[in-house]
Amino acid sequence: MQFQIECNTLKNFQICLICNKQFQTQEARLIICNDQGDGYGDICPQCMTMGAFWIGNQLKALDNKLSL
Ligand SMILES: [Zn+2]
Repeated sequence: MQFQIECNTLKNFQICLICNKQFQTQEARLIICNDQGDGYGDICPQCMTMGAFWIGNQLKALDNKLSL
């Protein structure tokens, strides 16, 4: 699993993949993708501020859950 930053012009609502809270997308979206580049979902600004290391750890846990 990996994440990528994308520019976004639409203001729509997404559910955060990590904390499951609904949020409005910002100009820069952080999108979680698998190794094939398929998007799983967005990360909210609060989780983004926790930093890449923390997000990476959350995704690892999520990855384990998804591959069960
Ligand atoms: Zn979040």
